[in-house]
Amino acid sequence: INLIGNAVKFTAEGGIAVAAGRDGDRIRFSVNDTGKGIPEEDQEHILKPFIQSSMSDHEGGTGLGLAISSRFIEMMGSSLELESSPGRGSTFSFAIPLKVSEQPPETRPRQGTVLAVKGGVSPRVLVVDDKLDNRLILKEMLERVGFTVHEAENGQRAVSLAFELRPDCIFMDIKMPVMDGYQAVEKIKADDALRSIPVFALIASAFKHDEQKILESGFDGFLAKPFQQGRLFALIEENSEIRFEYEKPAPEGNGKSPVLNEADIIRQGGLLSGEDLRIYGEALLINDFTRISQWARENKTEGAGGLLQVIENNASAFNEDELRRILEIIQGGNE
Ligand code: ADP
Repeated sequence: INLIGNAVKFTAEGGIAVAAGRDGDRIRFSVNDTGKGIPEEDQEHILKPFIQSSMSDHEGGTGLGLAISSRFIEMMGSSLELESSPGRGSTFSFAIPLKVSEQPPETRPRQGTVLAVKGGVSPRVLVVDDKLDNRLILKEMLERVGFTVHEAENGQRAVSLAFELRPDCIFMDIKMPVMDGYQAVEKIKADDALRSIPVFALIASAFKHDEQKILESGFDGFLAKPFQQGRLFALIEENSEIRFEYEKPAPEGNGKSPVLNEADIIRQGGLLSGEDLRIYGEALLINDFTRISQWARENKTEGAGGLLQVIENNASAFNEDELRRILEIIQGGNE
């Protein structure tokens, strides 16, 4: 949590990735950011108590977090490693020995991709967020399947649009200028005519105390960022009359996308470079679908064209489950 907190704190632009994977007989955990980085001369001192980097000593904090974290990691038989360059970012990582679990891995039920809203209707959705990017992501996911999307940039505007449009559901950010999400949902739920409209909170994280507070404040549910399509549509189906048509697993494909079986994925995936897989994996960790489709489109690896086309199609459809499955198959094949 300390490493992730630091990555968030010192990264104004770009992204953060948290990864875990096998490293010999250990499991390596790493937190990578594209933030301000730590100059070489500060790197050897940064793990000591009360030391902060000269690049970021005005950001507050105590300089204790890394000292405590690295002591814990030492107690687990490892050490905290740092790679960083100023202006480019940092990667903190450690590899610890862990026991093999006797329990079988949890399997998530796989659900097909949502194709459209059922019944040929176009339900109205109000998306409320002061950040344009967040509104656009949801707008694109919802319009693709047939919703009519209206937007508002603060709670006050959302309440007046709710009266005007009577949307079928509302997605609402919490922290916004003028009127925040808590106040807006309170107003909506206090009105007899609007009360039945499901209102979902858009939240940055899914910590337990947030969930509790959000549900107690009148929201009908919440969607954590980065937004995942599967959760988005499940939330709507669980809380409204809206139903979706799902894609049936079609073995003969839909014509646009080549059909690949696992052996094809392993074979073509094996042709991609380690750097390719790193880009794909890191972009997928933060659901950066634009990056994945751009990478797949521009990648000209000979013999892997079919696989790259499938990846690009899935990235354009925000199909994170399928993208993750493909990556796992490739990585499994590479072991
Ligand atoms: P604090 O964050 O309270 O200052 P830490 O011990 O967690 O304490 O971090 C010490 C210092 O290390 C930070 O103040 C910052 O200068 C530097 N630092 C830690 N993580 C990062 C990071 N991901 N990117 C840039 N600088 C970092």
